[in-house]
Amino acid sequence: MDLKDHIRGVPDFPKPGILFYDISTLLRNADAWQVAMGRLARIVGAYRPDVLAGVESRGFLLAAPLALKLGCGFVMLRKRGKLPGDTVGLNYDLEYGSDRIEIQSDAVTPGQRVVVVDDLLATGGTMAAGIALLKNVKAEVPAAIALIELGFLHGRDRLDVPFEALVRYD
Ligand code: IMP
Repeated sequence: MDLKDHIRGVPDFPKPGILFYDISTLLRNADAWQVAMGRLARIVGAYRPDVLAGVESRGFLLAAPLALKLGCGFVMLRKRGKLPGDTVGLNYDLEYGSDRIEIQSDAVTPGQRVVVVDDLLATGGTMAAGIALLKNVKAEVPAAIALIELGFLHGRDRLDVPFEALVRYD
């Protein structure tokens, strides 16, 4: 199955001139969803993770069921101020402005193998921040995974761990 047949490109979202790759159409199709999860599980499982870290918010939709399938834990990397209790955060730059990603301080045990999962890699800024934050809390990060990679933005060059995606647009 070509998963691209189930990913919709929405022009001018969220801003004029941007083509937004929408996975809603894939998730709502039982067969495509099943195939995507199976392929992701094979890729992610090879890195023998203890925990999967999902990036808010569409990363959660992939990381949580994948973690169940692989028998590992699931933790959330969230935007500023969303997580209760003690948190550790990291600020990172966006094209215009900056953002902050946070994790609960006790979410991972030092040395745990944590694979980061998001729906899409664009410039790589979000994923790079997630990886750096996990390393700051002493996780081992064997890999980062996305369903979609926008290859023409070369986001993978910003990552210091192996990166794999199911679908690539060049
Ligand atoms: P980056 O930090 O530039 O790599 O952007 C990646 C983040 O923005 C991910 O968390 C994505 O969910 C989101 N994102 C950027 N472009 C798209 C898109 O076309 N479709 C879905 N999510 C996107």
